[in-house]
Amino acid sequence: MIKPIIAIAGSLYTETSTPFLGNNFDYNNNNYSKCIVQANGIPIYLPVIDDLDTIQKQLSICDGLLLPGGNDINPLLYNELPMPKLGKCNDFIDWYQINLINIALEKNLPILGVCRGAQVINVACGGTIYQDISYAVNSPLNHIQNSHLSEKCHPIYINANTILNNILENKYIVNSSHHQCINKLAPNFIISSVAPDGIIESIEMINKSFVIGVQWHPEMLALKDNKMLQLFNAFVYNCTKFNI
Ligand code: MN
Repeated sequence: MIKPIIAIAGSLYTETSTPFLGNNFDYNNNNYSKCIVQANGIPIYLPVIDDLDTIQKQLSICDGLLLPGGNDINPLLYNELPMPKLGKCNDFIDWYQINLINIALEKNLPILGVCRGAQVINVACGGTIYQDISYAVNSPLNHIQNSHLSEKCHPIYINANTILNNILENKYIVNSSHHQCINKLAPNFIISSVAPDGIIESIEMINKSFVIGVQWHPEMLALKDNKMLQLFNAFVYNCTKFNI
């Protein structure tokens, strides 16, 4: 069987010390690559670029797209003005990742979005974000755990008849490191799980084989949590089917 090539969408880190002061570096958490390899995929990294034709060609050699965690999305992209608790945004990364998602959807590539990745899928498809969880509910849980993300934080309740339910069943304990959350769902998406305070923890696109966004960080759990690794297995498996 040919192992599918999984694109990990780029993010940028701006250097704060000399001699590269202010320079952008492409970067990502190496755990994404490790999890994809564990799940029998071939991870490749897509650097952030500002050319649509290049994005098309980047994705033309890929069988699936993973969108990593990262900064907040500029709320102007979902027609809202910035609120006081909005975090750091980067218009270049937003532009790149939204175009990447749109082209991947055109190509029917399976997509797994993690944390910001889930949010940017929702925004790219026409949904909105709460700029801070405190704007969503009055008494939220702590969704920014202080402990290491290899440890677990809060339960999620998983809806029946969802892809996630096939993987994690009705309830699972996840980690949590997000100050924003999904507000209005994009068309053709469903909520597949929520936290006990009602915060949306995962979404799925209904008219695609595997387009999923999760608000937690499975890449920080899956290397020692075999059940969480099944999420990567399911993603890579769907990319494999596309490959045949
Ligand atoms: Mn959470």
